[in-house]
Amino acid sequence: MIRHLLRPNIAALSPYSTARDEYTGPIGIFLDANESPFENGVNRYPDPHQAQLKARLSELKGIPAGNLFLGNGSDEAIDLVYRLFCEPGRDNAVMIAPSYGMYSVAAAINDIAVRPVQLEADFSLDTDKLLAATDRHTKVLFLCSPNNPSGNAFPKSQLLDIVDVFQGIVVVDEAYIDFSLKGSLAYDACRRDNLIVLQTLSKARAMAGLRIGMAIANQEIIRYMSMVKYPYNLSTAAMEKAFELLREPVSGEVALLRTERARLAAALPAFPFVKTVFPSDANFLLVRFDDADRIYNELLQKGIIVRNRSRVPGCAGCLRLTVGLPEENDALLQALQTL
Ligand code: PMP
Repeated sequence: MIRHLLRPNIAALSPYSTARDEYTGPIGIFLDANESPFENGVNRYPDPHQAQLKARLSELKGIPAGNLFLGNGSDEAIDLVYRLFCEPGRDNAVMIAPSYGMYSVAAAINDIAVRPVQLEADFSLDTDKLLAATDRHTKVLFLCSPNNPSGNAFPKSQLLDIVDVFQGIVVVDEAYIDFSLKGSLAYDACRRDNLIVLQTLSKARAMAGLRIGMAIANQEIIRYMSMVKYPYNLSTAAMEKAFELLREPVSGEVALLRTERARLAAALPAFPFVKTVFPSDANFLLVRFDDADRIYNELLQKGIIVRNRSRVPGCAGCLRLTVGLPEENDALLQALQTL
């Protein structure tokens, strides 16, 4: 039970009930929601419970539908975690650094103080240092594994130890988990009181344009998240397209990207201006260069856009290179040859 962790206003909330909640039959004359009666495929509001898409994802992931929350990207789930558990102006969130920028942006929007805990130079995580940054107002710990931008996944046992010890909510963002051979915590999340695992259709599933993210947690947490989301947070168009695309497996594409990641990681150290290629469990490589700004600008001139992370603490001199198609990766290596 984690009800005591909820903000009091959320615990007292009576959520919006949609017009269609009271009737679930297939055929009816719908005069309840002020929709247009002229059929065009999208004239009706979407299912606020997203039953069809959840059933498909549940089957694919082996996770019961009651343990799944779907949001407008995992970014929505990040925001909802703050809104459910953190009292603006009072509570704080502890997070690893460097990591995905939205944890602190969403915190700032919600007026939640952020306590970044710097990873070690090799991007490993010191559990004691992380826990030492928490106090009685720390409601949420944000972890990302595999981590963006460093690319490494943390050992599963280390993450579960943190979940065991910390009394608040632990979010483990697994946006890149499909590229990793280290295990997911998704099944653990269904059984633990205080663990929320985030996944997304944006990366390995190749649907970034649809904006569909997932939270996996025990049913109580999922109920709270569903209670505060916008009722129609996923559009009919996005859900239908995702349902269709989920028919096709992506294991071939994921395997190819892993092979290409290994190829790039093997080729890059040969360049005199490459200092370090950090090990990656994701679909990108963090690479430390002698002169990252120069490399970044020269690649840009050649129409190759990478992410300059060289001003992020812990990432001095680093560019983040997304693994592309084989020919795109060839173009990157060829461009680097000329620098
Ligand atoms: N988490 C991480 C670690 C990410 O890198 C990203 C996107 N770059 C997201 C979440 C956001 O994913 P979504 O498209 O599902 O909002």
